[in-house]
Parts: sequence; structure tokens; C-alpha cells
Amino acid sequence: MLGQMMDQELLISSIIDHAARSHGDTEVVSVNTDGTQTRTNYSEVQIRAKKIGSVLIKRGMERSDRIATIAWNNYRHFELYYGISGAGFVCHTVNPRLFPEQLIYILTHAEDKIVFFDATFIPLIDGVRSHLPNIKHWVLMEARTAELASQHDWMEFYEDLVAEGDDDFNWPSDLNERDASSLCYTSGTTGNPKGVLYSHRSTLLHAMMSATPDVMNFSARDCLLPVVPMFHVNAWGSPYAAALTGAKMVMPGPGLDGKSLATLFNDEKVTIAAGVPTIWAGLIQYLEASGTKLPYMQRTVIGGSACPPVMIDKFRDEYDVEVLHAWGMTEMSPLGSVNNLKNKQLDLSTEAQKEIRLNQGRPPFGMELAIFDEDFNQLPNDGITQGDLYCRGPWVLDEYFLAEKGTTLKNGWFDTGDVATLDADGFMTIKDRSKDIIKSGGEWISTVELENIAVGHPEIGGAAAIAAKHEKWDERPVILAVKAEGSNITEAELLAYYDDKIIKWQIPDKVIFVDQLPIGATGKILKKELRAEYENVLIDN
Ligand code: ADP
Repeated sequence: MLGQMMDQELLISSIIDHAARSHGDTEVVSVNTDGTQTRTNYSEVQIRAKKIGSVLIKRGMERSDRIATIAWNNYRHFELYYGISGAGFVCHTVNPRLFPEQLIYILTHAEDKIVFFDATFIPLIDGVRSHLPNIKHWVLMEARTAELASQHDWMEFYEDLVAEGDDDFNWPSDLNERDASSLCYTSGTTGNPKGVLYSHRSTLLHAMMSATPDVMNFSARDCLLPVVPMFHVNAWGSPYAAALTGAKMVMPGPGLDGKSLATLFNDEKVTIAAGVPTIWAGLIQYLEASGTKLPYMQRTVIGGSACPPVMIDKFRDEYDVEVLHAWGMTEMSPLGSVNNLKNKQLDLSTEAQKEIRLNQGRPPFGMELAIFDEDFNQLPNDGITQGDLYCRGPWVLDEYFLAEKGTTLKNGWFDTGDVATLDADGFMTIKDRSKDIIKSGGEWISTVELENIAVGHPEIGGAAAIAAKHEKWDERPVILAVKAEGSNITEAELLAYYDDKIIKWQIPDKVIFVDQLPIGATGKILKKELRAEYENVLIDN
């Protein structure tokens, strides 16, 4: 017997339609590439997204054609999210920090037909254009100027497209919720970039769950500023989850330095932000140096790589901001887990609660996590046993884009490439990426733990732990550390700092001070490069 309820497809266009209907005058504030600000709202975003959608159809785009964006977080990018997917095409967000060869690879692989880009990237685009003959339209996300038009005759202008758009365009009525909506490539820190093709349905389910209180906790009373770029796993889905709840949106544009962010947070009364740890390190440095406080900010979602405990403490104790430590990946749309307490934990001591808040948290409904050993035996959720972390759920990838069928999953589970523990309450702790973990004499040492301790030292500005080859133990930990400004800390002092914090045999063999650590396109430390450079330091001498 079938249920007798309306059979409505879960479509991305329905999010912006709802936002326009119920939160039409809620602001969408945007810092533009030239530093100016634009204030628009959900109603305007919907109108302009529809116009863009109608023009894409006029330009001959066919269902599920890929249309790329190479852009900062700004209102036109936001309109494209809805205009492209809503009209039945695939919004392919591209990371502009990739090398030109990778950019060419990705745009060719995805068979993009149109590229929308911000002014910052004109030189980048001009450099790769001749290698991409299949792209039919290059659209600068600006209004036309006579100067730009005469300098670049290959370029079209976003505002011309909006002007050309139909006022009475309706979203296509035959879209299926399982149709592709958007495409993101993994950042390639562990190999060639691979495409993850999201559907309307996966995006909506992910957005609905991410807005709930134990996940990102968005509401119509919030003002959200996603620092995480819209080209990094769709800003963790926040542009969808925010519109779905009617939260005010603030898009920071290219200015992601501490001062620009702090100013925007306070001017716009931002209540919740989201970003990777390296961004927040820059913000905290600025706040400390300038004595700036964050009176409106209530929470910030931190993920993408492990959030050091010292950062959680600082946000809480000095700025009264709650850190929501989150874990996920491109293949998971990206949210896999977020840290928040349970009812039974509310009576615990402050210290015990602090301890729980450090790990990567619990999966929401819709995400199932499990750990397995090498022979694919499921391991116990005892909070101690560590194993390869697998996941499954309606917003987890099934196959990589254009990959051979049936090559990705193992017995229906997706291998995250992470090593973790799970406890009986569902809390998960990432120990490492399986490629980064240090195997010393048959035992594992977590680089995340070693790094968290190092950056907890007030004289350390940044740290990465890597496996260095060792004659007796196969691998031993070596720390690459950046000293905080003005510090003269020595190797012996940093090693001594580990003494009471970790088992003796896990203490690193060596500390090498460096001026800076290599950071990749999504703000993560490039350990592959560090290993290539330093993996022989313990055997060379
Ligand atoms: P890429 O794999 O190309 O770097 P992703 O942004 O999808 O791109 O990265 C996902 C990976 O980032 C996860 O598998 C995990 O190793 C790491 N990661 C994400 N969030 C966290 C976190 N909170 N703690 C530790 N590691 C994390």
C-alpha cells in the first residue's frame, strides 16, 4: 500500500523559493572583489537566480551540462548556486588555488560548457583559455565596462546575462530529485583530483540535517558568515542550509585576513561562522594583537583538519565563542560528524565536558560510521580500538564522477581514508589520515595528537608531525614547527613539553624549526611535501 502524501521532488530551487517566500527581505551582504559591499536579500537572489537560469537555457545548455564557477564567496556566486542547479544544470565549483595544469585537467574532465569567474582570476583564466576549446562562454561576474570589454573581447559580463534573463521564468517542472545538481573535485592532497557529483536529493537531505541543533544549528535568528570558500565542498553546504532556515548571510569575498574578518563579524553582527583551523589561527592572532573582541559571535564551526584544543579553549575563554568541531570530506557533502554534548553529559564537571568537546563529535541521522580492521572485520565502538573509518548514507558518494561502476565502495561502505576510534555514545576521534599515521615498531602514533600538543605550547605558531624513516623502528615521529613571533624556543624545550602529555615512546625523535609550513589549496598542511623533504632526516646522520 502506498502512502497518500504529496509526491514532491526534493529540489535545490525549492530552497531559494522558500527563502524568497518566507524570508524575502532577509539580507544577503556581500563583499565584492573590489572591496565594495552589496546588500541584497533572498527575494532578489531568487529573482536574479531565475534570470540566470533562463539565460543558460537560451544559450543552449542541455540538462545536466556542467557549468563552472571560479569565484569567491559573494552574492553572484550565491545566485549561481541556485540559478545553475535550479534550471537543471550542474554547478561545478572550481578551486582557483589549484595549479593551472590541474585547473585545465578538471575543466576538461568535467566537460564544462560555461565558466563564470571573478575579476581576481582574469589572468588565471586568460592563461588557460587556449587549452579549453570546449568552453563556449567565459562570463566575468561583474557589470560590463567599456575598458574590460575592449581589453578582453572573449569575455561576457554577468550583469548582461541578468538583463537578458526572463522575468517570468519558472524552474523546470520535470527535474528529478536524483538528477545531478553540483560537482566538486577533491583537492588532490592525496592523488589526482576526483569528481564528486551531488544530487538535488543528497544536497537537500544534507542541508536539512546540517541546520539541526546538534549539527551546525542554523536558524532565522542567525547571521552566518561562511569563511570556508564556496569552492571547498560548497562552503560545507552552508549556502543551502542558511537559505533553508532563513538565516542572514554575509559573504566575505576575497578578504580572509584576521582584520577584514573581525571587522565584518562585528559590523554585521555575525552569530555563526565556519572555516578551517588555519583561517581561525590568523583571526586569533589579529584579535590578540589588536585587543578586538567578538561580542555578537556565538558559535563557529571548525573542521577540514583537526582543530587544536588550544583553539577551542581560546575561543571559549577569551571570546565567549563555542567551537563546533566538525569532520567531513568532499565525498560526504561534506558533513560527517559535529561535536556537541548530550543531555546526560550536562551534569558532568566542566573539565569532563571540555574533554568530550575536543573530538570530532557524533554523526547526525543520515550518516553511519563504523571502523574496520585490515580484513574488514568490524571493530568495537569502545573509544579505544582504532581502525579504518568507513561511512554510508544518502549524502555519501557512490562512485566518483565518470569512474568505472562498482570500483569505489567496499560492501556498500565508503572508505574515508581516516583512522579513528568510535565510542558507545557515537563520538568519533580522528587519529590520523591512514597515509599520515606513524607506524613505529608495529604501533601507531597519531600525528594529530603530536601536533595538538605542539601548538598548545604558547611559543609555537604551527606544527606538523610526519613519519621519518628509522632503521630500528621503521618510522619515528619528527615535528616541523614554526616558532611564534619573537620566540627563541629550543628543540629540547619543545620535546620536554611532551613529557607529561603523552606516553614516552610516542615523544618525537626530533624537532626541526621552519619559517613556514606548506599549505594547500583548501588551507591544509601538505604533509606529502614535508615527507618528501624530511623523511630521511633520521637515517641521514
Ligand atoms: P582532501 O581529501 O582533498 O583534502 P577534503 O576537504 O574532502 O579534501 O578532506 C577530507 C579530510 O580532511 C578528511 O578525510 C580528514 O582526513 C580531514 N579532516 C576533515 N575534518 C577534520 C577534523 N575535524 N579533524 C581531523 N581531520 C579532519
